[in-house]
Amino acid sequence: MTVLPISAKLKQFSSSAGQHLFIVGGSRIYDIDDATAKSLERALLLDGIEPIPVEIAALLDRGPAGPPSAPAGAPKITALSLNVAQSCNMGCGYCYAEQGTFGGAKKVMSPETARSSVDRLLQWAPADSRVVVAFMGGEPLLNRELLHSTVRYAAAAAQRSGHRCAFSLTTNATLLTAADAELFADYPFSITVSIDGPAGVQDRQRPMLGGQASTVRTLRGLEHLLRRRPRQLDARMTVTAQSGPLVPVLDHVLALGFDAAGFAPVVAAPRPGTEIHGAATAQFTEAMIDCGRHALAKLLAGERYGFANLLTALHELHKGSARAHPCGAGAGYLSIDADGDAFGCHRLVGDERFRFGSLAEGIDDERRFHHLSDHAVDLQEPCRSCWARYLCGGGCYHEVAARGRTHCDYIRGWLGFCLEAYATLGTARPDLFGPLPSR
Ligand code: SF4
Ligand code: SF4
Repeated sequence: MTVLPISAKLKQFSSSAGQHLFIVGGSRIYDIDDATAKSLERALLLDGIEPIPVEIAALLDRGPAGPPSAPAGAPKITALSLNVAQSCNMGCGYCYAEQGTFGGAKKVMSPETARSSVDRLLQWAPADSRVVVAFMGGEPLLNRELLHSTVRYAAAAAQRSGHRCAFSLTTNATLLTAADAELFADYPFSITVSIDGPAGVQDRQRPMLGGQASTVRTLRGLEHLLRRRPRQLDARMTVTAQSGPLVPVLDHVLALGFDAAGFAPVVAAPRPGTEIHGAATAQFTEAMIDCGRHALAKLLAGERYGFANLLTALHELHKGSARAHPCGAGAGYLSIDADGDAFGCHRLVGDERFRFGSLAEGIDDERRFHHLSDHAVDLQEPCRSCWARYLCGGGCYHEVAARGRTHCDYIRGWLGFCLEAYATLGTARPDLFGPLPSR
């Protein structure tokens, strides 16, 4: 096995609290003094195998060298997303799912397929575990009746089987009624509303299918959710190459009453004009860091400010997360399409490379195992020598399969900022994180 350079094992960084060291293996952060920082700088300039300052070498030896070793087989499945409506009432130019059809015909899931998905999930998941049923589309509320009946069916079945069942829904909210909001408040739901910002942005990026403005309809749906709040209410804002500064968008969306709001850049879309690449990636990175600084100032002032991208990264750093894969797709999570076929996740629907069986034929665990073995981040190039590999996991399968690893500068730039934010907040606001987990 090739020996990795120092820059693949650690990252030196500074914050308003001083000099720090990030040890890649177990995502651990240490404060270091100026003398150690200087000798480390010299070692990093050479970026060879040696010399590493002895005190740093001791830290490297103390923790894990990477994620926990992979299990011998495919992990148990504990979360399913159901593509209950492969169609949509909106016409967003960047939609990865081509208005929910994934390039095929419009379809809706039948009640039999939905119930069978729930039954299988409860068979596959370990006894007593928490399972998640997620509703995706297209727009899931185009199949409202099935959604309501499946929630009741899953909750009752999980109670009988001794599982704890949670639900999630991603919706454009334009069709959302008071009765829907009642259901989402009565059961343990996390709701994510897709909304791109103030009317000027939202109506341009997310028109209705006929081209009409969508803002009024989205806000009407949101009002129902604010009146009968679900357990978690988040916003997802998509960023295209045409989007402007992001701080005003974030302020606007959070002021609407969401618990948290996060940005997602368009990396791979059927209509590539909206994708963020090249110079636009650098602008996007800057805009995200502007939002990060804005959020950091609010958190330092003791305010609540739910910038989801930052809060998620801080939480992962605090836990010392080290992952071998970008996400749970094909691992503990699968997506069932309207016909009952099983894919790695909601964005991989229709992609034969990530098809793992079906409700009818069963799930191919060997294929899942090979998918996970083949995609381990330590086997990917250039990931295996990237300092961010155990936080990033090697990049979204859908995006990497479609466009390659084009966003690494953004991922490292953003995570580099998050390291600084964590070190700053860890000193000024330790109450935000609670005790360090034992390692
Ligand atoms: S995808 Fe890019 S940022 Fe992520 S681990 Fe691989 S090289 Fe690093
Ligand atoms: S493959 Fe991409 S879209 Fe699918 S769950 Fe993973 S990160 Fe998300």
